[in-house]
Amino acid sequence: MPAAVAGRAKERPSAAWEGLPNPQSHRQKTRKCKLADDEMEKYSRREFIKAIAGGTALLASFSLPREVFAKLEQLMNGREFLGESFEEGISRLHRDVYEKENERFYVYVKKGQIVGWLNIEDAMSLDMGNSIDLLPLLLDAEVEAMHFVHTHPLALMDVDRLLPPEKLQKIRETQRSDFPLVPSAQDIATLARQKRFLAEKNLPQKLSHSVVDPAGQWTYDVDLANPHANILSRYQKPIKDGERISDEELLVMSPEESAQFRLSLEMLDQQKRFYHDGIGMTDEKLEALKRWAREQWGVSLEFSAHRK
Ligand SMILES: [Zn+2]
Repeated sequence: MPAAVAGRAKERPSAAWEGLPNPQSHRQKTRKCKLADDEMEKYSRREFIKAIAGGTALLASFSLPREVFAKLEQLMNGREFLGESFEEGISRLHRDVYEKENERFYVYVKKGQIVGWLNIEDAMSLDMGNSIDLLPLLLDAEVEAMHFVHTHPLALMDVDRLLPPEKLQKIRETQRSDFPLVPSAQDIATLARQKRFLAEKNLPQKLSHSVVDPAGQWTYDVDLANPHANILSRYQKPIKDGERISDEELLVMSPEESAQFRLSLEMLDQQKRFYHDGIGMTDEKLEALKRWAREQWGVSLEFSAHRK
């Protein structure tokens, strides 16, 4: 799949979240022209957050051990952070599924009043290890949610020739689809590795993962008690530039590589069932997919269609 280009924001903000205007106190003072003012406030607050906020500003509001903070600061410096609600972010990604060629990768973070979406495109698509480096944010006990969400764009159907061109054209025009692009083996393996990391570091497992595709939103989880999922969760050290690897090592797949390979073939096979009859999503097919994923791989899948 095409790797998304790093979407680093141009601003290098240093302002902390404490600097944000307080809408509550402002509202009391200006009750007279409430409606116009509320609209204005919503607009300006959002624009303001967009303008000042990046990963660094987000990080400033977290209480973390000093060395964890330093590492995260490097990773989050200059990253785009959008002050949107969960629903707003999902609608934006829904549009991106139809309008952008590349996959988008974000993590939704909620800590009290701080709510928003951190752009993690370079971290997720180029080096899977970096997504794990973000998890120490959970050391802050007040973090209520970390929800990793990425897209499977309609463009992938083109690439994989999953549907006839005229059908695809119709989907593109109406921005409605009954044909899913299910979470991939790599998506599930990433989550499995994150969960293993959290367990090893004794961090709370406050993680969610979703894929937004042309048909709707998939939320998935994986149970490491399942032996196959457990193999999948073994984390491989990324190979460094210039590192020597023996021919033997290159030729032989590790158990985790072969598990992921097998899962990816099986997932594609499962996905085909939504395409071969030209009908797409039905309750029966969805239930069959969920059952298979749970029984074979310890993976739970939830699907909700985009609103018509
Ligand atoms: Zn994916």
